Amino acid sequence: MNILVVDDDRFIREIISAVITDAGHTPITASRDNEALPLLENSDIDLVLTDVEMPGLNGFELTREIRQRYPNDWFPIIFLSGQSDEKHYEEGIDAGGDDYLTKPVSPIVLKAKILAMERIANMKKALDSANSRLEKLSTQDPLTKVSNRRDLEQSLLKEWKLHKRKETELAVIMLDIDFFKPYNDTYGHQQGDECLKSVAKALKKCLHRSHDLLARYGGEEFAIVLPETSLDGATHVANRVIDSLKQLNLPHEHSTAASHITVSMGISSTSANSETPTGLLKQADDALYLAKENGRNRSEIFKN
Ligand SMILES: [Mg+2]
Repeated sequence: MNILVVDDDRFIREIISAVITDAGHTPITASRDNEALPLLENSDIDLVLTDVEMPGLNGFELTREIRQRYPNDWFPIIFLSGQSDEKHYEEGIDAGGDDYLTKPVSPIVLKAKILAMERIANMKKALDSANSRLEKLSTQDPLTKVSNRRDLEQSLLKEWKLHKRKETELAVIMLDIDFFKPYNDTYGHQQGDECLKSVAKALKKCLHRSHDLLARYGGEEFAIVLPETSLDGATHVANRVIDSLKQLNLPHEHSTAASHITVSMGISSTSANSETPTGLLKQADDALYLAKENGRNRSEIFKN
């Protein structure tokens, strides 16, 4: 661990640093607030040991400042103080500190505290990484690994706001696998799942920009969000999808549209003046029904 030692007494800084080094960690020292804060900004600090009585911000004030500056980045803070009364202790914990040691500090106690805090810091790290994995899982469709509907709605809302602010065109494609029910009935549900995975993979390859989004909308329905894209641009993507599924060539003997798995697509963009992102998806969905009616394996553009 990188351990920041803040104390205006150079002698104490040296003694504490020696204990830290002896415990196998790296001490970094500061004599007061205006040296400590830049170090926190620029180095990767895992633990802070701070004096309470110092010029400038005292240890409690410094701790409040640190907790305010880094609300999402927790690391333990331990006070080292000459004062041993309970009121002082309470104030330190209240300021955002995690423990309190009275000077002179015994090297054995200090090492034990560092070990205890290291344990807590490691648990916190493990918890953070589990949370970020969960966060990813909560936005992903488990079968196809593309975005799920929740992520689609959030991303679309974000892009919608961006389009309003930057006055750019935002296009969406709603997409449905043709004759998927007969496909499942003929080849079985397991093969149906494989088909969904293969189609999702092929669709993903048709999107060339990092901010284009593919989501599973539900069942055999997918949605594509294309920021800064015109209806022409979206039609271009739709044609790419038709070509890539032709190349993928998953056999489908009960389709009247083709001998392979195909999709129907409905396209709309903000040029059709929808008032909400949900309305935009609805327009694309209306166009999708038109594509189904017109023989499938094609795309149609929403018309008011
Ligand atoms: Mg002092």
